[in-house]
Amino acid sequence: MREPKKHLSFSALSRALSKHFENLPDKRQAAKTDYSLHDIFMSAFAMMYFQDTSLLAFQRRMQDSLQQNNLKSFFAVESIPKDTQLRTVIDQLPTEQLKPLFPKILSALQRGKQLEKYQSLGDHYLVALDGSQYFSSDSIQCPACLTKKSKNGDLRYHHQILQAAIIKPGLKQVIPLSPEGIQNSDGQKNRIVKSMLPKERFK
Ligand SMILES: [Zn+2]
Repeated sequence: MREPKKHLSFSALSRALSKHFENLPDKRQAAKTDYSLHDIFMSAFAMMYFQDTSLLAFQRRMQDSLQQNNLKSFFAVESIPKDTQLRTVIDQLPTEQLKPLFPKILSALQRGKQLEKYQSLGDHYLVALDGSQYFSSDSIQCPACLTKKSKNGDLRYHHQILQAAIIKPGLKQVIPLSPEGIQNSDGQKNRIVKSMLPKERFK
């Protein structure tokens, strides 16, 4: 296997995430915080990286001292957050704060000439789109909620997300672009394409 470019190695990408999480604005009251935002978000990244099926599975993994050491050394996590804290804190951070990571990583792939192999039909990119619902309630709502009337006339509130990914037949890896919330205010402008792509155009 060819050596991947240095800035695309796991440790370089992990460091980029770590740096971004260190600078997240923390609006929590200092006295009530047991874990830094950095440790919480890096733990969530580790959970995705290990492909644990749930937070509980991740917490079980972390009961093992070797795995704990891995989290500390490879993900720069100082203290490992508890299940409930992880969930609550992540839920409260606006997803907008995480979006800059997507174009950053896409640009790194572009610089490392990794995007070229994803070109199809000449110099085009194939982008697959999928929508998914991640929240539904008949009591909790916000101004951006999508609404649906049930048979008995009650309103139900939803949040949905549109996820795009660059794909290439024959390549197992896909490159996810920044997800976009499907909200009430959508539909006037072509917001999706604009916010998901990096600033400089890629060829
Ligand atoms: Zn809402």
